[in-house]
Amino acid sequence: MLKENLESVEEKIQEACKKSGRNREDVTLIAVSKTKPVETLQEAYDLGVRVFGENKVQELTEKYDSLPKDIHWHMIGHLQRNKVKYIIDKVDLIHSVDSIRLAETIDKEAQKHDLIANILVEVNVAKEESKFGLMPEEVDGFIDEIANLKHIQVKGLMTIAPFVENPEKNRTVFADLRKLSVDIAKKNVDNVNVSILSMGMTNDYQVAVEEGATMVRVGTGIFGARNYAQV
Ligand SMILES: *Cc1c(COP(=O)(O)O)cnc(C)c1O
Repeated sequence: MLKENLESVEEKIQEACKKSGRNREDVTLIAVSKTKPVETLQEAYDLGVRVFGENKVQELTEKYDSLPKDIHWHMIGHLQRNKVKYIIDKVDLIHSVDSIRLAETIDKEAQKHDLIANILVEVNVAKEESKFGLMPEEVDGFIDEIANLKHIQVKGLMTIAPFVENPEKNRTVFADLRKLSVDIAKKNVDNVNVSILSMGMTNDYQVAVEEGATMVRVGTGIFGARNYAQV
């Protein structure tokens, strides 16, 4: 089933690229493997998947330890400052930076490892009360403030769109995040590059790609429904 799911997601990404005149290479598919056992990730790996997304620090580090080292791990979930140290040298990208203090902690831990941490700024585009992320109007000032941290590099923006039955409803959310990134890019802040747009999940990744997503985070569409009771 995993193989068919992957093929189907791949096909839909290609379709969305074609429809919007984009290149398939410009969209990275992140296989969101949270709650799934290592064996399932290994199976996906054997089918060619190399980019995995996790939202819990402990789960990510356990999987990191037991799977091949050429996997690219992405931290997509809310991150507590006291846990940054466990993942700083293991992840390619942290998608969920939404406070100065978290950015400062990531900077400090990255410095200890003599590396530069790649981060995205999480934006609550739809201004949902239940969601993490900065309000769109805060992003500009936030980026100015963290741009001088030497051991982090802002790479782009991320959003978790509202849960909707009809993915078309999220089109404006994705378009708004893209507009925001264009506005920020125009300012040409040193050490800031907003070329990555992480947006779109199982329910709406095609629309997100049509609106400019460069990373889509797909879990259920690849691995099937999650059973949180088992974790
Ligand atoms: C779980 C999760 C996803 C994947 O969700 P699906 O609907 O299963 O594709 C994407 N992004 C984040 C931040 C998540 O926590």
